[in-house]
Amino acid sequence: MSNAVPALLSPDLAQRLDESGRRFEPQFPMQDWRRGFEAAAYEAALGELAQQPADSLSLYVHVPFCAGRCLYCGCNTTVTHDSTRIDAYLDTLEREMTLIAERIGAHHDVVQVHLAGGTPNYLTEAQLTRLTEMLERRFHLAADTERSIECDPRRASAGQLELLHALGFSIIGFGVQDLDPDVQRAIGRVQSEELIRDVYWMAREIGFDSIAFDLIYGLPLQSESTFNRTIDSVLEVAPDRVACFGYARGTADGPHQHAINVHELPDDAERERLFRNAVARFTASGYAWIGLDTFALETDELAVAQAERRLHRNCVGYTATPSTHLIGLGAGAVGELKGSCVQNHPDLAGWRERVEAGRLPVDRGHRLDQAERRRREAMSHLICNLELPRDMASGCLEEEYRRLSAYVGEGLVEAMPDGLRVTPAGHFFLRELCCEQDAYFHWDRARWHFSHSD
Ligand code: SF4
Repeated sequence: MSNAVPALLSPDLAQRLDESGRRFEPQFPMQDWRRGFEAAAYEAALGELAQQPADSLSLYVHVPFCAGRCLYCGCNTTVTHDSTRIDAYLDTLEREMTLIAERIGAHHDVVQVHLAGGTPNYLTEAQLTRLTEMLERRFHLAADTERSIECDPRRASAGQLELLHALGFSIIGFGVQDLDPDVQRAIGRVQSEELIRDVYWMAREIGFDSIAFDLIYGLPLQSESTFNRTIDSVLEVAPDRVACFGYARGTADGPHQHAINVHELPDDAERERLFRNAVARFTASGYAWIGLDTFALETDELAVAQAERRLHRNCVGYTATPSTHLIGLGAGAVGELKGSCVQNHPDLAGWRERVEAGRLPVDRGHRLDQAERRRREAMSHLICNLELPRDMASGCLEEEYRRLSAYVGEGLVEAMPDGLRVTPAGHFFLRELCCEQDAYFHWDRARWHFSHSD
């Protein structure tokens, strides 16, 4: 299927989609997630999980430390140059892992471990080894457990990458964002193209199975021509996956973002052109467009899973190896267990105080009822696999199904015998087509604010 840019939309349709999109944008913080969500509710969910040893787990570990603050950053992180603070963090993290393991036992197969932050590779080699061993001692990690880590290329070295590979990490992501020197200065993150290439080839030679780059569009001083040059350079090395996120300015949560000159930001039309151009360039170069904002080489397991309509998504991102539950570890980490979305205290002191007192450090959460779970599953399937099967929608999603089918006439959705399928043109409006499902998108925003790192 081609990813042709859709023809001009009718003014009426453009307005409908625009209104949907606007409803999506300002959803953070997650209104449906209750502060004061009782740790007892999480405790009960962990107790239920202990009774289901066949259920599989994913583990998400948040490492909230960086060497400096990038001006566009919306992550939950702390700048420090004191390595003993990270040692102390690992001490508490170990205690938190024990609290969880004591409640669920060590029987559950862990299918995925993901380290993000912050900058996980800001840890020293000894700290990375310790963190991995802490996980291995308390949870059932197997040889085929998928281990992934998000890295800042400026902190990477051959020795560090070799160590990570030896520790079992097979998927590695690097924050590239943009390679134009002026854009890099405007966002307070200077890293040369040579550095990115060196780090990429080191990782390739060491033997990581999958290497991912993160790009951001909508940054100050970005234009189609500058972003095209960045894409040229990325395509030259051909990482397995490329995520292309839109810059989401959030000065309320990140006052450092005031340092970005708003007059240098591309307007909405330019942002749209930047993203559409990225779609055209990557899909013309052997990449499949995955979900909202990711590209994967057609041989990559994400692309294969999407083609076979078995791709999944959790707060860590897209995955071909889904687990029944996701446990978040560390300050601000998000998890989902037995239909309960939970988030740990985002501030280090609040998180540490609870863990050291032997309590689960839950800050807020939301227990999805049956209808919300079905809606979330259906919307996740729609985003990942670009279809809404009739049987997934029957019952409590009838209204959503009807609304989605209204786009058949506009060419954004196609009616199939067993459900609705998003067309290549509709893929450009996937976010808008889904955004009525706010419960899902609160989750999606959570990833950006609390899990995205480099
Ligand atoms: S963008 Fe990444 S490296 Fe930069 S401050 Fe945020 S988490 Fe740290």
